[in-house]
Amino acid sequence: MNADKLSKIVALCRRRGFIFGGSEIYGGLSSVWDYGPLGARLKKRIKDIWWDTYVEKREDIVGLDSSIIMKDQVFQASGHLQGFADWLVDCPGCKRRFRMDKLEKAGQDCFKCPECSHQIDTKKNKPRQFNLMLKTNMSATEDEPYYAYLRPETAQGIFVNFSNVLNTVHKSLPLGIAQIGKAFRNEVTTGNFVFRMKEFEQMEIEYFVHPSEANKFYKYWVKERFDFYVNKIGLKKKSLRLREHEKEELAHYAKSCTDIEFNFPFGWSELEGIANRGNFDLTEHAKVSRKDLSFYDNVKKEKFTPFVIEPSAGVDRTLFAVISDAYCEEEVKGKLRTVLKIKPQLAPYCVAVFPLLRNRPELVQLAKNIFCDINNSVPAVYNDTGAIGKLYRRQDEIGTPFCITIDVDSLGDGKVTVRDRDTMQQDRVSRSKVLEFIRAKVKGGH
Ligand code: ATP
Repeated sequence: MNADKLSKIVALCRRRGFIFGGSEIYGGLSSVWDYGPLGARLKKRIKDIWWDTYVEKREDIVGLDSSIIMKDQVFQASGHLQGFADWLVDCPGCKRRFRMDKLEKAGQDCFKCPECSHQIDTKKNKPRQFNLMLKTNMSATEDEPYYAYLRPETAQGIFVNFSNVLNTVHKSLPLGIAQIGKAFRNEVTTGNFVFRMKEFEQMEIEYFVHPSEANKFYKYWVKERFDFYVNKIGLKKKSLRLREHEKEELAHYAKSCTDIEFNFPFGWSELEGIANRGNFDLTEHAKVSRKDLSFYDNVKKEKFTPFVIEPSAGVDRTLFAVISDAYCEEEVKGKLRTVLKIKPQLAPYCVAVFPLLRNRPELVQLAKNIFCDINNSVPAVYNDTGAIGKLYRRQDEIGTPFCITIDVDSLGDGKVTVRDRDTMQQDRVSRSKVLEFIRAKVKGGH
């Protein structure tokens, strides 16, 4: 494990305001994290790109925003109340607790502890099952509780609204219903920063198809989602790989599943899962709710329960992957430079604007005017709280692709200095051409 890289990323996220510990002033809350000013921006960019790609730009997918709190029957039907549990086992050596499905086998009934390499004999250390559902009391009184559940995936909100959507959008199959939202799991094995949280955010599409086309669309989505991470999010191809699940590894509802894995600082782990869920969910909800959740094809005069292909992505894991992939340390003139080489479309700010001298009111005024102009078109930040070297370092660390400096000459010739984050090259550009200059660089694959 690259523990050093992980701790550097956690420290940078804390220091620069990407991610803070949840309830931190009270000592923190295990596996709960808060996004600071920059983290909130980066997270929103990721969600916007996803939503724009799949909901705004496509005819065959519509959006949904269903509630987090759902009735117990939903999760009885989906099988989560009975089966959504992890088998956990304690290591007798280091006393830490692990998920059985993540351990390496070391013989019949024996596993190897990933922390201390001790043998864990499951005959002696009996694994125990922990349900991951978080429940909440919706009654005003404690003595007559009424329990509902926080959804463990956004998907169930889509399934229970399937006929509502179908009856209102007047579309045929294939039809996707997409949703971005919070999900909650009482994860027992925690750690690894925002990789495994108790409250996290998902971006899910349930893509309903005719059963005969399920395999075709399953393959389509695996490729589409892999390409999305490379082309839209800017992750390096070599940091990603596909892993198809073995039959015994499949969730109870899935016919097939492929994970898109990312090479996190602690190793290859799931970034997204793409599953062919068959018609399990609609069939079970139809049984329990006694509603008709089938689809009637008017042209073919055929009635059937659609199969569903589900690309299920985590916003937090994507953000973590973006920061981890972009994190670089370079030596510049004998000094270490830390820089986040994030794609400009994703960076919390695309441009930072500074006056070279903060004690010259006319420079400050000009810089502020230029900042306002630019911020109308691309996300920008103004800063005059330090010497230029310090300001550049700060922007490098938060991944701002361009810095614009206004100096005394700018007052006379109307030109400003544009510094490129990655090459550190500086260009003098006239104020009226600055946006054009930056846009050309972004387009040219900055
Ligand atoms: P894992 O095996 O890592 O627990 P999973 O297979 O249970 O993941 P899914 O149920 O497929 O995860 O959820 C879809 C996506 O939601 C995951 O690929 C991940 O990006 C995200 N996700 C799931 N659980 C968490 C969590 N506890 N914290 C952050 N993101 C999560």
